[in-house]
Amino acid sequence: MGAIGRRRLLESASVLLAASRISAGKVISQAMRAEDAGKALSLRDYEPRSMLHVPETKVPRSRYPVIDVHTHLSLVAKHAGGVGIGEEMEYFATAEDVLPLMDRKNIRIMVNLTGGVGKGLDEAIRKFQTPYPSRFLIFTEPWWEHTNQPGYAQFQADEIVRAHRAGAHGLKVLKTLGLYLREKISTGPLVKVDDRRFDLMWEACGSLGIPVAMHVSDPEAFFLPTDRFNERFEELNNHPDWSFYDRDFPSNADLLEARNRVLARHPKTQFIALHVGNNAENLAYVGECMDRFPNMHVELGARIGELGRQPRMSRKFFEKYQDRILFGTDAVPHGTDTPQQIFTDQLYEIYYRFLETEDEYFDYAPAPVPPQGRWRIYGLGLPDGILKKVYFENAARLLQVKL
Ligand SMILES: [Zn+2]
Repeated sequence: MGAIGRRRLLESASVLLAASRISAGKVISQAMRAEDAGKALSLRDYEPRSMLHVPETKVPRSRYPVIDVHTHLSLVAKHAGGVGIGEEMEYFATAEDVLPLMDRKNIRIMVNLTGGVGKGLDEAIRKFQTPYPSRFLIFTEPWWEHTNQPGYAQFQADEIVRAHRAGAHGLKVLKTLGLYLREKISTGPLVKVDDRRFDLMWEACGSLGIPVAMHVSDPEAFFLPTDRFNERFEELNNHPDWSFYDRDFPSNADLLEARNRVLARHPKTQFIALHVGNNAENLAYVGECMDRFPNMHVELGARIGELGRQPRMSRKFFEKYQDRILFGTDAVPHGTDTPQQIFTDQLYEIYYRFLETEDEYFDYAPAPVPPQGRWRIYGLGLPDGILKKVYFENAARLLQVKL
């Protein structure tokens, strides 16, 4: 969809704020002048400020040290159709750039999930992990561009062993698998999440004892039309390429079921299902999956907006699965596009406030308009024992590191 098409869509979603419709009270209608009735206001200009007078707790440092298991300090430099190609890396920050903020916010370890492959991986390890082995851990990724070559399954398993020997602490699989990777890499039919070609790769991680951090699918609303009924309309409208509605994409449910078949087939491999298993809107389903698969863990990255709008469900979820929930943010240094994941002091303060306090109705991202949907969140006020597990104990166990 072009820019004009998108603008039209936005216009059609403009809210009509008619005072007469909002409040039918007599006093209001007396105060209202006739010419103000039915005044149009574009959704993009609407920035309502909460009139609630409720406690606002500032949490500049987490109560316990933090392992952020989901950050992106580097990325494979070249892409074809959303698929990372080759060994060359780009870096969003240096170790020295991010260490002061880590110290301020009590972040003991940052896991850089997108560490790349081959020489790129070696370089990422050299830049972060080698000089600061107690502060940064690097994960490797699959060699996507080799997936259609003969012998890929064994090649990829061997590469996991090599990456582990080079210092990688885990494997990261982006939503590339299931949504971008195709038989001819960027063209042809989509490759399925549970494709047998990856079996040896999952197994290799299991036998080495390194976890797989897996991003499968995306929010449910990304699979629906970008229209006035879509609760993430503005976000999808700003990022039309995030929509997986229509075309040849599988449904959200199909993607998650394919992931579940991988979890079932490789019970000795520990999986971190990122973004609360990418179904934070449906914690009952995530819970069912956790019950079925003892090798499934979840991480919070960019999902406190979902968790925090259902604080009672979330609190129960944290109580029940407290040994398998990991702290993560999906933080990326720099940028303005996605305030819910830009590496800043405010970002971490919001996560800490959400987990530690019982504050009510606050922003889940440092932005004038809530970027993932127009709602606010409620703190969980987790007890110390659970906080400690979520902040670092669960991650330390899985990553086999000591704080
Ligand atoms: Zn991420």
